[in-house]
Formats: sequence, C-alpha cells, structure tokens
Amino acid sequence: MRVGEGLEGLARLRLSQGELGFVFFEFSALAVSTRDHRLLFDPAGSVGPKDLSSWKPNLLLVTHEHFDHLEPSNLVELQRASGGTVVCDPGSHSSLRGRVGKLVELRAGKTVEVEGARVTGIRAEHPAEEPLMLLVESGGLRIFHGSDSSFTPEVEKHRADVAFLPAGAPSPTASVEDALRMAKALGCRWAIPFHCLEEEAEEFRRRAERELPGVRVVVPERGKVYRL
Ligand SMILES: [Zn+2]
Repeated sequence: MRVGEGLEGLARLRLSQGELGFVFFEFSALAVSTRDHRLLFDPAGSVGPKDLSSWKPNLLLVTHEHFDHLEPSNLVELQRASGGTVVCDPGSHSSLRGRVGKLVELRAGKTVEVEGARVTGIRAEHPAEEPLMLLVESGGLRIFHGSDSSFTPEVEKHRADVAFLPAGAPSPTASVEDALRMAKALGCRWAIPFHCLEEEAEEFRRRAERELPGVRVVVPERGKVYRL
C-alpha cells in the first residue's frame, strides 16, 4: 500500500474517546490518530510532504537525531505541509532550530502541553545525544513510543494504554526482552512491536502470549491501517 493511501485510510476513521488508529511505516515511523489529535512519530524519510493530503499531523514528534528517525530537511517540509508543531529531543532540536516555525524542545523527565496534548519525555538508553522515549496523552489514551531504546527504570514511573515497543534491529539497544519489560512496566492493554525484524516481532508475540496475560499484541504490516 502506498504511504499516502494508508494515511487517507487513517483520515477516514471516525474515532471516539479511547479509540486509536495507526499506520506503521518502518523503523519507528508511525502515524497515530486519536479522537483529538494526529501524531506523526519519527518519520525520517518514510513519509513525504506529498503524502499529507488528507491526513495532516497536529504534532510531529522526534525521539533522536539518527537517520532512521529524523531527516531534517524532510521534517522541515512535513511541518510546512501540515502546520503542525514539532516536539523533539535536544539532539534533533539543534539541527531544526531556525528552520521550523513551530518547534518545542523536550527533555527527559519533562512534560509539555502542545496543541492540547500532553507529551512527556522519558530517558532512553541509546547512543545518541539525548534520546527520548515519549508518552502522549490524547483522546482519553496514554500512548507510549519507545523509539529504539532499551528498557530504562524511568519507564516504570509511567502507565500506558497502547505501547509501541522497539524489539530489535537495527538498534544496538532494543531487544525483544527489553520490549517485554517495557510492556510489563507500563501495564499496557495493547502492545505493538516495531523497529525490529519480522522474526523478532513474532518472538515478541509468542513470549507476550505466555508472559503478559491480558495484553493484546498487534504485529503491524507496513502501510496498513489499524483501529484499536
Ligand atoms: Zn533506530
């Protein structure tokens, strides 16, 4: 499915409080709709400005400056095409400062309120400048995005309804084991493995069935629209 087609499908969803729609692209690039917001996470180069015809993000969120999460010139274009606000870690902020109209820097342990959504930065473990995991509160949901980090004890301070969990390659820090620990700490109802190989996603699903009773797992296909 084309990227634009997936996003058009996402735009057609009519969501109530507590419902979520999403499209996964690659690495940890992800478009999420709630009743109240449209969130684009770590788009890097997987979504272009031309894809944003019917679905335009209110928030563009970036966890760190690595190429599979941020492509600065593309992000500048995406912000221009959508008019949304960029919320990012300090490392990405230094390459976007002065180039993006609406730009908010977020640090670990801090919460900002942007476009009516609350966004919290959680300390990530990953060899970048100051990488983040993110928790977004929107439309009656707490949505966790684990970037490509390993588990950190700071995750235990938070609860989430829906968790997008990095389960491995190509990250030196993410793993199936860490993703399971995150899901358990967050007490999530939905767990979606990403930033991994297919076999890692399947291993996450198998282990979650045994180790995380009551948690529903979705192994996402690229470009497909999901409604939770
Ligand atoms: Zn990565």
